[in-house]
Amino acid sequence: MLIKKTWLDLSWKDIRDEHISKLKDITTTVTSGFIDDQVQSERLEICKDCSEYETTKRKCKICGCFMPLKTMFNAAECPKKYWIELTD
Ligand code: SF4
Repeated sequence: MLIKKTWLDLSWKDIRDEHISKLKDITTTVTSGFIDDQVQSERLEICKDCSEYETTKRKCKICGCFMPLKTMFNAAECPKKYWIELTD
């Protein structure tokens, strides 16, 4: 039987480590610089057609990011790898 962990099941060390990991990811992404406007626009169009995109909040349901901003950075990645052909 699969048991899903909730925040209540995690130790403070687990929670701290998870937040440090997310902070490192955000820092790496933001310091990678801005991507070409055309690629940013194409990334955002893919998000708008994606079932994981929350239109009213303009956020990805998986990563929780505000996509008009996230799509601007060189190192940003789609968690489902839908943008891969745009940057490879
Ligand atoms: S980042 Fe990827 S999974 Fe999330 S909304 Fe955009 S295309 Fe969909």
